[in-house]
Amino acid sequence: MVGAMSRVLLPFLLIGLQACAALPGSRHPRGAAATQPAVATRAPAPEVEETTPADGPLGPDETPEEPEATPPPPTEPAPPPHPLAKLSDEQLEQELLNDPDSLGSVSLGQTNRGALFNGVLMPDGPYWKVVNPRQTWGTRETVEAIEHSITRLNEEFPDTQPLYVGDISEKHGGHIAPHISHQAGRDVDLGYYYSVPNQWYVRADGSNLDIPRTWAFTKILVTESDVEHIFMDRKIQKVLKEYALQQGEDPAWLDSLFGGPLSHQRPLIMHEDGHDTHMHVRFYNRIAQESGRRLYRMMIAHHMIKPPTYYVHYKVKRGDNLGRIAKRYHVKIKAIKRANGLHSSRIIAGRTYKIPQRGGVTAPRSAIVIPPRRLPPPTGSGTSGHTTTAAAQR
Ligand SMILES: [Zn+2]
Repeated sequence: MVGAMSRVLLPFLLIGLQACAALPGSRHPRGAAATQPAVATRAPAPEVEETTPADGPLGPDETPEEPEATPPPPTEPAPPPHPLAKLSDEQLEQELLNDPDSLGSVSLGQTNRGALFNGVLMPDGPYWKVVNPRQTWGTRETVEAIEHSITRLNEEFPDTQPLYVGDISEKHGGHIAPHISHQAGRDVDLGYYYSVPNQWYVRADGSNLDIPRTWAFTKILVTESDVEHIFMDRKIQKVLKEYALQQGEDPAWLDSLFGGPLSHQRPLIMHEDGHDTHMHVRFYNRIAQESGRRLYRMMIAHHMIKPPTYYVHYKVKRGDNLGRIAKRYHVKIKAIKRANGLHSSRIIAGRTYKIPQRGGVTAPRSAIVIPPRRLPPPTGSGTSGHTTTAAAQR
């Protein structure tokens, strides 16, 4: 199943599973877990290929849109060289074995089949509250982008209630219940800003959302950090977009963020069920993802991460049958038969069989390309600041 076909299809198939699921009901009285039980309880890997997305946006590591659709940002300086660029693969492997901390944060695989190495724990701060510290490990870039964005919001809006910071990843990444993604230190669940006393995981709508702050925060995120996606309920998107238009923001730029006729780019902000209680931000990590690409094979070889498919060994007990074993390990009977060269479903008590598992870390394909940030056109380029750009983009 790792042929050219699945390589082409997987990014499309995975997208529907990428946003977080709801957080557990015990922590969230109105948790969306009730509306998404399948997502919360599934083992992620086997179902991936059977899921058809509602619409087919590009996968997380596909090449970005054609460059002419992106207005070239005039003031974006070339990024500094990657901190590990000077190391050969041999030197990198030595560092991995002898001084792994020196490699910095590493984001491996994809957000729904990934791992985190040398993660950084999101600290509490003056402007935010960490909901669950055991699950707020991210790459340094992710943690810094969150800190930066919230701090900037508070510079623009003094006297703002703290924002709730939900799950990022576990210390070493990987599957983190009840999420599908959040595996590689690049996803974070963030609260909204509310106009009423602040709580975590409250359903937001036009009546309780602090629209100016939430829009300003969204703008800071997309213009001052490398956002891959923001998942946000479409009703909230609508309220924010209308407000931004009233504020004189460029309509074509807003369409490139939220979707709309003035933009041919895939929207940065997307609807995903369950995201009216929080937004989910996925960052690109220029450094940590490239480190992950280079270190992947070495970390597999040194058993520091699991390959996409691996085997567990199971000794059959009296009374076992293939169906029961398959169910227990969330695999198909025929996958077990194939792994062991079985021509029938007969298994023998006392004998050990290989059970294929697909919970490992996906292999990187090529160097990741981070598209230019989507910046609004410079103000003062027209009487209202936006008509010229909208026309120029057509
Ligand atoms: Zn999430």
